[in-house]
Amino acid sequence: MARVAVVGAGFGGLAAAARLVRLGHDVVVLDAAAVTGGACSRLEQDGHRWDAGPTYTLLPAVLRDLFRKSGRPLEKELDLVQLEVLREHRFADGTSLALPGGSRGAQVRAADALSPGLGEQWASYVASYTETWELLRTDLLERRWSPDVGRPETARMLASRTSLRRAARRGLRDRRLRLVAAHPYDVDGHDLSGVPAWAGVVAHLEQRFGTWTTPHGMAVVTELLAARLAERGADVRLRTPVTDVVVRGGRAVAVASADGEVDADVVVCAIDPRRLPALAPYVAASQPAMPPVVSHLGLEGELPPLAHHETVLHGDPLLVVRVQPPGSAPDGGAAWTVLARGRGAEDPVRALAERGLHVRPHVVTRLDLSPRASAERWGGSPLGVRWDGRATQRQRLGPRTPVPGVLATGAHAAAGPGLAFVGLASALVAQEVPAV
Ligand SMILES: Cc1cc2nc3c(=O)[nH]c(=O)nc-3n(C[C@H](O)[C@H](O)[C@H](O)COP(=O)(O)OP(=O)(O)OC[C@H]3O[C@@H](n4cnc5c(N)ncnc54)[C@H](O)[C@@H]3O)c2cc1C
Repeated sequence: MARVAVVGAGFGGLAAAARLVRLGHDVVVLDAAAVTGGACSRLEQDGHRWDAGPTYTLLPAVLRDLFRKSGRPLEKELDLVQLEVLREHRFADGTSLALPGGSRGAQVRAADALSPGLGEQWASYVASYTETWELLRTDLLERRWSPDVGRPETARMLASRTSLRRAARRGLRDRRLRLVAAHPYDVDGHDLSGVPAWAGVVAHLEQRFGTWTTPHGMAVVTELLAARLAERGADVRLRTPVTDVVVRGGRAVAVASADGEVDADVVVCAIDPRRLPALAPYVAASQPAMPPVVSHLGLEGELPPLAHHETVLHGDPLLVVRVQPPGSAPDGGAAWTVLARGRGAEDPVRALAERGLHVRPHVVTRLDLSPRASAERWGGSPLGVRWDGRATQRQRLGPRTPVPGVLATGAHAAAGPGLAFVGLASALVAQEVPAV
């Protein structure tokens, strides 16, 4: 049995810890905050509730695998429901596209309704990622990438200089469809010319597997994982910032924390490695992707109608409105979260009004987070590393790091965006800890 110190109790740290405890390891989890969950947690104010970060996930199989391999199956504890429409895109020319998830046929019909012929254009773009997904899944996401074991096609794909901007231009003549393809990376603040073409696989995953949420918000996921850790006797220490990894004799032997040194055979870094001096030099060449401006709104009265969980208003600023699940506001009210990037993003409510969504008179409470405030709150960006060309993939740490005895997971180690990829990164970490 190894003694494992997990640094960070966001989704990445909790997912790794839950697997490791189940494998029989002695696990201590340390987090600087007063609650677990990191960005996958709940915010409350004046009777309103918001998911602080994630409101849905890709690849439900990742959560199902995590729950099964760390105790009880997910179905026993959590209702994971598919969102019929991924999001509604509203374009500057006044047209809109409500793009369904989990169905090629439904996507074709929706894109054809935008303009006849666009269905086929979108479907063949998405289909071009079928092989990409198989290569990524088997060579990079479900096992540690190694050029000795991975297929040459995967190595070529990872080494390709083609950017997502170029791939979308090539595959999609319609400008609006290019915005749809770019959306997951635009909203996370990446410059598309620095994002490798293979990262466009997200469109394939959304079409094939859909996006999923829970009726009570995504924070339930980390709450259940924390409860599972408590049940299995893991030592979870909150309000305990970790300041470094202690390396002796060329190997990690402990973490330095506000509680003093905590001994460990293996350290799992589930935070931004820039925060730990022993790891920081190895990630000096990359930068974090900064969160958007986030405005959590508590609303009442007659609101502008939003038919879907997520509405994207393309333009500058880019605005994303997420409607929180029923029950997130007192009777007759609603809870929305607005993400904003670009010109005028500092005041998302004003930016919404400029696009015809007048909510200011309906705001009864409001919780705003600047990008800097978000990064401070979670001790780094929950969006991980900013894409800056194909080298970014190599510059990320994880699951192994150059420091013997230190593994890495979380958004900064994950190959793609969001909980699904972080969940996969945590599964890799669990594979790397020596068996009992
Ligand atoms: C606004 C927003 C919306 C998002 N929406 C979605 C979505 O809809 N779907 C989706 O899949 N993903 C979404 N994401 C991404 C998702 O939040 C992340 O992928 C995920 O939460 C990352 O988890 P993590 O554990 O790596 O990091 P975090 O959630 O950032 O957790 C890091 C944890 O480490 C702790 N910590 C930091 N430094 C230290 C230290 N020195 N010592 C001890 N503890 C420390 C922090 O307190 C925190 O608890 C969104 C993110 C944001 C910001």
